[in-house]
Amino acid sequence: METKKGKLFVISGSSGVGKGTLLKKLIEKNPQLEVSISATTRLPRPGEVDGINYFFVSKEEFLKEVENSEFLEWAEFNGNYYGTRQAWVERNINKGKNLILEIETKGALQIKKKLPDSVLIFILPPSMEELEHRLRGRNTEDEETIQGRLHEVRREIECSKNYDYTVVNDDLDRAIIELEKIIKAVIR
Ligand code: ADP
Ligand code: 5GP
Repeated sequence: METKKGKLFVISGSSGVGKGTLLKKLIEKNPQLEVSISATTRLPRPGEVDGINYFFVSKEEFLKEVENSEFLEWAEFNGNYYGTRQAWVERNINKGKNLILEIETKGALQIKKKLPDSVLIFILPPSMEELEHRLRGRNTEDEETIQGRLHEVRREIECSKNYDYTVVNDDLDRAIIELEKIIKAVIR
């Protein structure tokens, strides 16, 4: 008998909106979901580990993978490259695993084009003020990087119109329950 293919969920949202926090909890509660580990040219933040948070690669290595068509999608974001490796996604989907990609909007739309069955979920902040507060409160970026990220916010929120679902990350537990409902309805 053929194995049922897994589903691909793509989660996007502005920097600081709480994607990492939401996903960590979601995975703790639903260990059957697998999160893709992207390749990036950005430097690790304190506490980030190669092969766990990202595969940290040089610009040369990244562009070589682009040339070899190894990415299902890739994009430049705030001066760095980020990409999802196609082989990993295909292997796991074919095994029946349900996958989550946490990626920005340009990459998400590339995925939807290539794999129309994928489910795009956009995480919204309760307000712009709260978003800036969370981004600063995280204390991981300098002022220039924060400004660059805030600059991307409006363009990204505009892009959320192309997503299948939007979820407001107001109360963390409430937002997780809403995310779980969407995911369970799709993989049922
Ligand atoms: P992202 O991965 O989207 O950049 P993070 O998960 O790093 O965002 O969250 C940014 C900051 O906001 C963190 O300090 C996190 O603890 C906080 N945060 C996340 N979700 C909520 C929430 N629902 N309410 C209040 N603070 C939150
Ligand atoms: P950060 O530097 O905060 O970890 O990520 C910056 C942005 O890049 C976030 O919006 C994140 O979702 C996105 N991102 C992470 N991995 C990928 C990827 O593989 N592809 C794309 N297109 N975006 C990614």
